[in-house]
Amino acid sequence: MATILIVEDEEKIARFLQLELKHEGYDVVVANDGRKGYEVSVKPEIDLVVLDLMLPQLSGIEVCRRVRQVSDVPIIMLTAKDDVTDKVMGLDTGADDYMTKPFAIEELLARIRVALSRKNKQDVKSSSEQMKIGGLVLDKCKYEVAFNNDAIVLTKKEFELLDYLMTNQDIVLTREQILNKVWGYDYLGDTNIIDVYIRYLRSKIDQKYQVHFIHTVRGVGYLFKHEKEKDI
Ligand code: CA
Repeated sequence: MATILIVEDEEKIARFLQLELKHEGYDVVVANDGRKGYEVSVKPEIDLVVLDLMLPQLSGIEVCRRVRQVSDVPIIMLTAKDDVTDKVMGLDTGADDYMTKPFAIEELLARIRVALSRKNKQDVKSSSEQMKIGGLVLDKCKYEVAFNNDAIVLTKKEFELLDYLMTNQDIVLTREQILNKVWGYDYLGDTNIIDVYIRYLRSKIDQKYQVHFIHTVRGVGYLFKHEKEKDI
């Protein structure tokens, strides 16, 4: 059964939600402030987050924004009564859905079921995904990369970087985007790490097989594009 995180500082509401969700058969975790809420939200065992907007430490909006830098976990936001600005901001920062307090528990349960089933479909799709671009194959299930059936050994970070680049084929990715997605929002080192890993990937793929997949976009970032190396 799915594990749901409730981020809510009002104890009465948190306890009520916890009991109702447990009654439905979910595993439930509670965080009472925004900072804790963020920390727990990004854990892999959390399948869905019910996130209150008004929270101590970090607001629900800020929690949502930070979580979205590193995770696609479904988020249902609980907003104050009819505050349109809050709703719009919540959805803008990447919440999947919102509910206005006070709400009927049945409605929240229904929305949780919808969000979880949507997530499950996405999980199946992405886990079975095998990307093939110009002879380069990346298999997310098996964690394997090959060029024309020749296996390429990559470290975990190299794999994640390549995965992100290939997923966004033909789209320029900024260093900032790459850093947030592959190294995570909490990474404190500088962006040179990306250039180092790009160099590793190029030596293992582009240079080794005489292809040109990884393009530098000067002053911006990198681009994955299928293009044959010109004969010299
Ligand atoms: Ca609150």
